[in-house]
Amino acid sequence: MQKRTLGKTNLFVSLLGVGGIPLQRFDEKNALDILRAALENGVNFVDTAKAYTKSEALIGYALEKLGRDNFFIASKSKSRDYASMKNDILTSLEALRTDHIELYQCHCVASDEEIEKIFSEDGAYKALLEAKAEGKISHIGFSAHKPEIAEKLIKTDKFDTVQYAYNYIEVKGKEVFELAKQHGMGTIVMKPMCGGAVRNRELSLRYIAKCEYVDVMIPGVDDDKQLLQNVSYVEKAEIPFTDEELSLINKEVELLGHNFCRKCDYCQPCPNQINISNVLMLDGYYTRYDLKDWAKDRYDDSVERCVECGECETRCPYELPIREMLKAAHERMKH
Ligand code: SF4
Ligand code: SF4
Repeated sequence: MQKRTLGKTNLFVSLLGVGGIPLQRFDEKNALDILRAALENGVNFVDTAKAYTKSEALIGYALEKLGRDNFFIASKSKSRDYASMKNDILTSLEALRTDHIELYQCHCVASDEEIEKIFSEDGAYKALLEAKAEGKISHIGFSAHKPEIAEKLIKTDKFDTVQYAYNYIEVKGKEVFELAKQHGMGTIVMKPMCGGAVRNRELSLRYIAKCEYVDVMIPGVDDDKQLLQNVSYVEKAEIPFTDEELSLINKEVELLGHNFCRKCDYCQPCPNQINISNVLMLDGYYTRYDLKDWAKDRYDDSVERCVECGECETRCPYELPIREMLKAAHERMKH
């Protein structure tokens, strides 16, 4: 497995990592099988989050069996204030059964207000710096979905890594990663299969593996067999795409190009306080990650408040049929 240096962290990470979202629907044995397959195939980077329910705990269980030092662990928290971030780091350490985490990230930073809060006197960044000084975490990163927010955070020069969505449908990540590289940062690709929207896993992973501005990609997997397949795809990075493969990619770009939510929140505000991107994100987990119960538990029936005014659709840069999509999501997840 090809390895790359994760920017200024100097961690020598495998180009393929393991994404922690799908682990939530597994038990200890499945998690252990996946991480054992990872270890046996040179995959040494595992990304999780406090928000991914039992994902950290399952990884912690597997780490204890397989040897903590065989992996670099990245986790993250959506806390923006000092006290909650401090508490989240401790909770993550406990769940992961370790005394240190190589990379801890501000998860899903989405607005200028959040950036301000993170860097305020009692902000999350202070807790991250303290944890770093105490040896609880080694490096600080962030994840974001909006290019302008990612770019702003990169330019602070206060982070070691950026985690951003990238694949042949979502190509905006290229500019984000190239800027991050100019700032010496490590680059982590989330949603390498576009949250499950890309159907051809091999082409998607090979496409990303060819990009020199990517250090590690973190697809989630259903089981150890899928992880082995991913390894074989990433190892084919050097093989050029055939005309047929390029045409398959182009076809998929055309097909998916406008038909899924990118969580940019440009559609807000909804006069009826419907968190549109959140509902569509949960629906994506329901339909693509097969996390039906997980998604349904978190869905609050808020689409019942939709009066179909269509205001949101006039603001969506991707021209999504939001009303139609919300109705379909509600039908699947309503209580
Ligand atoms: S159509 Fe529904 S979701 Fe969109 S702005 Fe109007 S009430 Fe909100
Ligand atoms: S519905 Fe459109 S505007 Fe709203 S978050 Fe999704 S992609 Fe962005």
